Amino acid sequence: MKRGKKELRHQHERPEGSWDELLASDASADAARGDAAIVIYVGSARCRAVYREQEIDVVVPSGIAVKQKSLLAVGDRIVVANESGMWRLESILPRRTALARPDPLRPHMQRLIAANIDVVVHVVSVKAPPLRPRLIDRYMIAIMRGGAKPVVCVNKIDLLEEEDRREELARLDVYRALDVPVIACSTRTGEGLDTLRAEAEGKTTALVGHSGVGKSSILNAIDQRLQLATNTLHRRGTGRHTTTASTLYDFGGGTYLIDTPGIREFGLWDLDRASLRDYFPEFDEPAEYCRFTDCTHVHEPVCEVKERLERGEVNAARYETYLRLYEDL
Ligand code: GDP
Ligand code: ZN
Repeated sequence: MKRGKKELRHQHERPEGSWDELLASDASADAARGDAAIVIYVGSARCRAVYREQEIDVVVPSGIAVKQKSLLAVGDRIVVANESGMWRLESILPRRTALARPDPLRPHMQRLIAANIDVVVHVVSVKAPPLRPRLIDRYMIAIMRGGAKPVVCVNKIDLLEEEDRREELARLDVYRALDVPVIACSTRTGEGLDTLRAEAEGKTTALVGHSGVGKSSILNAIDQRLQLATNTLHRRGTGRHTTTASTLYDFGGGTYLIDTPGIREFGLWDLDRASLRDYFPEFDEPAEYCRFTDCTHVHEPVCEVKERLERGEVNAARYETYLRLYEDL
């Protein structure tokens, strides 16, 4: 299994005893059993896990391996058994939370991104690549659906002048109003990193988002020891270094962070029209004044959501996302 040298070095430097504490802290009593391990990397037909503070290579049985991306993820708690010196995955323990999306190749199947995470930070950037609020909505729905707390991190804020900065960030006020932290951040100036660190402190957090927004740079900036390869083109123009598989890192003090590969398209897994409304909590209060109790706020007459939209009291970009998703589902 291919893993970076630097990554192993980091593992080596971690404070002792913390992985077991993470297992023991699980609500599921099963995870505190003696033969449980935490998955930190998933390869093909194999995974890497931490068992009693030791990293082990685990063979994934073929029944799971064929559907691996939909069954097993970084952060999973698994039961392992040793057979003549080889570790074998026996079973996957129930998850507290998960983040999933439809498999781009087989949309009827889910693809797991991470399991047992407390927080998911959707990293976006300004300018390179530019901010796309509509994509944030999709992530937000998937994160909430999986049971984790969403956070939006707007990276590369150093690329904007004061006025543009205010304008871009204002587009995200709608999320702040929904109690989703929006953190303006820069790995160049260090802005926002402390706030991000505070959000992740003592928790398991996954960083997700489009490739090139700065996920690896952020992790490196949070912990200097990490030294993940970032997506810079080398001088000779050969080989781009990118994260190709999710990896769970121990940052010490009960803080765990997951670096995930860039996601280009983010579809929504297993969502229907009726439950779509649940992820637009700002429609709840006006919905009480809609004529129909099951108003979809799309085509019904006397719809308070649409009326407030016209008065500018419901965010137009959010409503448009809602409409698009409604039509897609
Ligand atoms: P990832 O694909 O999301 O992991 O992104 P990387 O961490 O590999 O970063 C992609 C590119 O963005 C690299 O060239 C970084 O140097 C650059 N970058 C990362 N953070 C910042 C930032 O805060 N400001 C600026 N201007 N560039 C950044
Ligand atoms: Zn309505």
